[in-house]
Amino acid sequence: MTDEPIPLLDLTLQYRFLAVEIQPQVEALLASGQYIGGAAVRHFEELFSHFLGGGELETIGCNSGTDALVLALRALGIQPGDEVITSAFSFFASAEAIDLVGARPVFVDVDPYTFNLDPALLEAQISPHTKAVIPVHLFGQAANMTEILTIARRHGLAVIEDCAQAVGACWGGKPVGTWGDVGCFSFFPTKNLGAAGDGGAVVTRSPDLARQIRILKEHGQARQYQHDQIGINSRLDALQAVILSVKLPHLREWNWRRQGIAEVYHRLLQGIPSLILPRVAAGGSSVWHQYTVRVAGADPTDPHRRDSLQQHLKDRGIGSRIYYPIPLHRQPVYQKLGYKPGDLPHAETCAAQVLSLPCFPELTLRQQERVAKAIAEIISEEIRA
Ligand SMILES: *Cc1c(COP(=O)(O)O)cnc(C)c1O
Repeated sequence: MTDEPIPLLDLTLQYRFLAVEIQPQVEALLASGQYIGGAAVRHFEELFSHFLGGGELETIGCNSGTDALVLALRALGIQPGDEVITSAFSFFASAEAIDLVGARPVFVDVDPYTFNLDPALLEAQISPHTKAVIPVHLFGQAANMTEILTIARRHGLAVIEDCAQAVGACWGGKPVGTWGDVGCFSFFPTKNLGAAGDGGAVVTRSPDLARQIRILKEHGQARQYQHDQIGINSRLDALQAVILSVKLPHLREWNWRRQGIAEVYHRLLQGIPSLILPRVAAGGSSVWHQYTVRVAGADPTDPHRRDSLQQHLKDRGIGSRIYYPIPLHRQPVYQKLGYKPGDLPHAETCAAQVLSLPCFPELTLRQQERVAKAIAEIISEEIRA
């Protein structure tokens, strides 16, 4: 008898668990005829602000995490001629948003154990054109907001947090997204809080920024059919808001489960030769959007050993994924920026070595044991060969 496959992620289990809660809410929304905006969206925006600590915080729903970043940059007045600093190792949208407002991305190398922007390298990238920094809380782990904010404030830079992968993670006990001027979230289905389609949110404590973001996301109109600026059309659908409002009260528990899963992987994968486990920086927490290991080879930029482990896991029915195989400064579209191989060595090493393992709240201990055993066997066979 062969074992059942273990997927990287299985979204059907969460839906099965929540179907009885979600279905009547979705039906009521469909019957209401209010598909754009309205009470469902306002309700979710309030719930989400409350989840992040409430107070002055305002949430503005939008169509995606990418739009959230674009709206934040636009509201802060970032424009052509400006530079915005972000992490060299992230999902493409962290940099793409900067280009979408006509500014120039500048990349900072990462810490290869936390995968987050290394604040010690930040100041060297600041120029007279720099206007903002976008720290990314990658794989669910909070970046070091104390140091990033200190440097940013010293140079008068705005801080936009890319929280797409880290909803609920904290730095210094305070949720990510509430440290900087603006926090940007994604509700893409695979994120820790996922809609049944695209969705996103911007959060801010500044009433001026909140107002400007609401105008920009509605075609630049402050009043209906009066357009003072060019905006975009970026809405959180009422249907998605309803689904997200059902899911949000479960998010803390799901994140705790992910933290439990990470602890189990740490224990089971400890001591396997050439396998480098992720670390959580002191002062921060992770909600483990991904559990990402590194497979070290003789040459830190050679992906061969990592790729081979992934193939062998696949042969045993175990899912895994490479987030991300090309660092941002090495993307074809960014050749124009003039970065050379070796310029941001840790990001390049990560791209060659990372492998994300199955990690989702419903993953069982037995499945994790199978993943860990398979990895140990594959690596020891490889070493003997
Ligand atoms: C998913 C993601 C985004 C973009 O979110 P979308 O909702 O897919 O547009 C931005 N940054 C990071 C780090 C992400 O993981």
